[in-house]
Amino acid sequence: MPELPEVETVRRVLQERYAGKTVTAVALGKPTFYRAPPLAAIKILTGGVIAAFRRRGKYLIVVIEGRGEVIFHLGMSGRITIGGESPHVRFQMWIGTEALRFHDSRRFGRVGCLLPDLGPEPLDTAFTADYLWKLLRKRTAPVKALIMDQKLIAGLGNIYATEALHAAKVRPGRAGKSLSRAEVEKLAVACRDILSRGVEAGGATLDDEAFLDPLGRPGRMQMGVMVYGREKCGTCGGPVIGTRKSIGGRASAYCPSCQL
Ligand SMILES: [Zn+2]
Repeated sequence: MPELPEVETVRRVLQERYAGKTVTAVALGKPTFYRAPPLAAIKILTGGVIAAFRRRGKYLIVVIEGRGEVIFHLGMSGRITIGGESPHVRFQMWIGTEALRFHDSRRFGRVGCLLPDLGPEPLDTAFTADYLWKLLRKRTAPVKALIMDQKLIAGLGNIYATEALHAAKVRPGRAGKSLSRAEVEKLAVACRDILSRGVEAGGATLDDEAFLDPLGRPGRMQMGVMVYGREKCGTCGGPVIGTRKSIGGRASAYCPSCQL
């Protein structure tokens, strides 16, 4: 799933290429992609001038001068490409002669005008060890599910949450309230660090439906991954376990030697 670093990588490519340009036409993919067509989004985009591409959490936002914003959520496996055909095109818009396409093979993506409530991002100044401490200290849910809950913290998905917990030496299944203050401080730093490294690396390209940027280029973050998708821990070389155990609906890897 595209997480904060992958969406930010997409945003940067689009911002550089299309800011200030006009959306000449818009087309929807097959009607089966939509319960209701995103008419407000189409109206904002068609003929509009792109002021900027922004991002909030894992959401990509197209700002149209004088009209408003259209929000793209890439869902589980969404990809944005410049040109490029597939049977999974949910949405496309032409900017000059180029077609920007949103492919959504697993159909969890969305196009619309409303941004849901989102917590602070680990890269924001509002995200501090104190914030994380208050968030975790009374909760019995697994810490991993809590840091992946976008209403609480925006931007972390399975890859980066797994890696942040490994860097903080905390097992993903522990109750939020079981973390010591020192562990919370390490985790806050780790969340920030892993996301900024992901952004610098242009995202992580692993999994079956691997991330590529709109120009088809892979990221490099997969080289810096210590437990996610690995059989052996990148820190101690011991076996990674829990890859099949589900936390918050996802497999959750950890190293039993490095993580307590
Ligand atoms: Zn280890």
